[in-house]
Amino acid sequence: MSLALVNCSVIPCDGSPAIDDAVVVLDGNRIEAVDTRAALEPLLRERADNLTQHDLGGRWVMPGLMDMHVHLSLALPGPAQLASRLETDMAVTVRAYRNALDGLNAGVTFMRTLGDMRFVDLELKRAINAGVIVGPRLFCAGQAVIITGGHGFGSGSSLEADGPDGFRQAVRKQLRAGADVIKVAITGGIAGEYEQIRDSQATYAEMEAACQAAHNAGRRITAHAGSALAIAEGIRAGLDCVEHGYFLDQPTVDTMANKGVYLVPTLSVSRGEEYMRRIGCPQWMIDKSLRAGEDHLRSYQMALAAGVPMAMGTDMLPADPYDGTLAVYREVEWMVEGGMPHAAALRAATLSAAELCQVDADLGSVTPGKLADLVAMPANPLENIRALRGIDTVMKDGAIVRDGCY
Ligand SMILES: [Zn+2]
Repeated sequence: MSLALVNCSVIPCDGSPAIDDAVVVLDGNRIEAVDTRAALEPLLRERADNLTQHDLGGRWVMPGLMDMHVHLSLALPGPAQLASRLETDMAVTVRAYRNALDGLNAGVTFMRTLGDMRFVDLELKRAINAGVIVGPRLFCAGQAVIITGGHGFGSGSSLEADGPDGFRQAVRKQLRAGADVIKVAITGGIAGEYEQIRDSQATYAEMEAACQAAHNAGRRITAHAGSALAIAEGIRAGLDCVEHGYFLDQPTVDTMANKGVYLVPTLSVSRGEEYMRRIGCPQWMIDKSLRAGEDHLRSYQMALAAGVPMAMGTDMLPADPYDGTLAVYREVEWMVEGGMPHAAALRAATLSAAELCQVDADLGSVTPGKLADLVAMPANPLENIRALRGIDTVMKDGAIVRDGCY
């Protein structure tokens, strides 16, 4: 029996217009055809005996969301980080898995993990891919590579290293564990008590060694980065992508646009006061975060105007309660509120993310031949981005994970 999704509108997210009164025909875990009901009626009739029609009740269908900045074992400074110090391996695994599953149910069918404890992201990826447990597709960095005392030290999700040889070896340890992408921290950040966001951390030689080790293995490399100075150096050293980009300037965004270096802006991290208070983050962290907010938004807008390729990332748990909704929906809304057109924001959360991870041949749009990772919601997110909050139906790999239609 194959499956056809009927009575829906489709937003393909590949640049083509939305299709009203659409049908999506699946062949196993892949999309076989997407078109109007009228165009596909002959196919539906021909297959009538071995095709189940799933009525989506007029919902809007788009590709599954892809969150480019997740820490499945996230434990921010405050009670969460203190508690995490006493966790056993099993406890970390259960917590990280729960976070992955909650994200999937919220419609995030793909997560790029950028620093997790004890390689829990890679272990979960193996179990999910083997069909042992249900979960989102994971694209993993393992541990973040940082300088001694650098951004994220003490979080349990990073590996300290120094000098080009140290960085090269630390990257190779991630590759040995099966990393799909490499993450380094090259400046300070919000969640570090003894550092400023602008502080340069990794040296040029360290960044260059890390980039070379990643590229030699055919992996892309991204950096947690705050200042324009460090980002410009990092790009010269070979970075493919930049996380946050709190303090960008015009020459740097121009270089990013020219070289096709991605920005994952993670706008939520500098505007989530209620979230940080609720989870008990220390006051110094809240102050630092909110102080960066204005520059962060300005940097994002500068990058947007310059045409820097962008993908959506929360740097939170995608399904974390945030600002009256979930972090992943709010992040897309922040991108729109900052000036990105609706269609571009949906693309940043799907096809652009797939391109960043070089999995766009299989994922990121509702296109015949691609894997059937889809979400559906009652309202049209091209008209009102808040429609994403209504996602109630999730399909991954051709299987319905959550069904809001009953
Ligand atoms: Zn992060």
